[in-house]
Amino acid sequence: MKIIIFGLLLAGTTFSQAFAWGQEGHAIVAEIAQRRLSATTLLEVKHILGGEVSMASVASWADDVRSGPHPETYNWHFVDIPLADSTYDPVSECAASPKGDCGIAEVDRAEHEITCSADPMQRRDSLRYLIHIVGDLHQPFHTVAEGNGGNETKIVVKFGGLIKFPPKVPDDNLHAVWDSTIIKQTTYAWGSYVDRLEGDWLLKHPEASETLDPTAWTLEAHALAKDVAAGITNCTTLDNSYYDKALPIVDEQLGRAGLRLAAVLNRWLSTAPACPLP
Ligand SMILES: [Zn+2]
Repeated sequence: MKIIIFGLLLAGTTFSQAFAWGQEGHAIVAEIAQRRLSATTLLEVKHILGGEVSMASVASWADDVRSGPHPETYNWHFVDIPLADSTYDPVSECAASPKGDCGIAEVDRAEHEITCSADPMQRRDSLRYLIHIVGDLHQPFHTVAEGNGGNETKIVVKFGGLIKFPPKVPDDNLHAVWDSTIIKQTTYAWGSYVDRLEGDWLLKHPEASETLDPTAWTLEAHALAKDVAAGITNCTTLDNSYYDKALPIVDEQLGRAGLRLAAVLNRWLSTAPACPLP
């Protein structure tokens, strides 16, 4: 029985890794953002989520429902842009489908819904999607069309990271390395990763980004993906030199996502807007 349960847990882990930043990445983004909300915005976020629920605790809900009750949201977690492209084409890359359109469209929708919807349940769900998908659009491989965003590129992980120990599951795919493995090889707990960023990257970059446009975030992440996907094919071994190159990018993308999520929420929830929005 133990073997069966362990196998199920392992399968579940692999499954969720294929979706997005892992739970750690989403919690990191949400926590960075929550610490930067204005008092008014924080009150409103608590009102929408219901009491003392932290943003980090709901940051992976969108992944939980994606393959369960809400298959129509499946495509909201990424934008499939060919790696060679440097532009975003909403007609071909964000078309409506039974699995949803794309992350850029959902960020725009969720911002309007948390601001203007009269339905408390819709506002709660939209806020949970927004917290999650702002994070997803900053994971470089969530902006890559090829090979299901790197999910189909098997690689061998041979880096110990700051933790120094080899990953427990050494064989992985490129997407999962960026969702989870680099983060997990850096600190043992996501809270420690937030502390790391607060003591370094966020100190050096205290302001939210110049843009709150999800298309700009996506193309920025896409440009990074071109660099960190270069030269990687099936069964490539990723060693410490790859980790050393990737970690500053993971730090930057998690930091940017947290700052931008805070800025978006402070923009839409700190004052009573005139609804409907344009
Ligand atoms: Zn996701």
